[in-house]
Amino acid sequence: MTTAMTWMSGKLRIIQGDITTLEVDAIVNAANHSLMGGGGVDGAIHRAAGGELKTACQDLRQKQWPEGLPDGEVAMTPGFNLPARYVIHTVGPVYAKTIDKSELLANCYRKSLALAAQQGLHTIAFPAISTGVYGYPFDQASEIVLKVMAEKLPHGDLTATLCFFSQQDMDAFRQVASRMGYQR
Ligand code: ADP
Repeated sequence: MTTAMTWMSGKLRIIQGDITTLEVDAIVNAANHSLMGGGGVDGAIHRAAGGELKTACQDLRQKQWPEGLPDGEVAMTPGFNLPARYVIHTVGPVYAKTIDKSELLANCYRKSLALAAQQGLHTIAFPAISTGVYGYPFDQASEIVLKVMAEKLPHGDLTATLCFFSQQDMDAFRQVASRMGYQR
């Protein structure tokens, strides 16, 4: 069991674990365009939240995003059976060597933080968006996350948790943070 580590005056926390177990105001889902659930963290969140989450997502599709949720956009539902009160669904970009998609990945984090702040939430937890099936190189994704957090967290009262599924990912993130000069 690893203990949490913090940066940015305690406003950024990293842990290793299963995001579906976290008691935070909102967890972020690395969803896909359809919002209908899938594998990876998306599947785990849908299983833990229960069938009502799928119904809420269908509703979002019909009323707000008939063409599907675009890359870098966010949409919110209740958390239903999850300990988290809300789920913020966002679609990370599929990695491509020849196209720079860093702004799209940054938008997933930026817009999730902005939506949480707008809703008056205080705690939010993220998985490592796009670094699973969507293939984003982990170190590059971590740099983007750190830049967005450093840009946004000082200006509000949100505390963000990055929840890594494996110890290896958590260690890799720590190394990127120290290479970029972030002090704990
Ligand atoms: P994407 O399609 O955006 O790449 P994935 O779900 O394939 O999304 O993977 C994103 C990250 O989420 C990966 O690092 C994966 O290990 C992690 N992950 C999978 N299940 C969980 C979970 N229950 N809690 C936290 N992270 C998870």
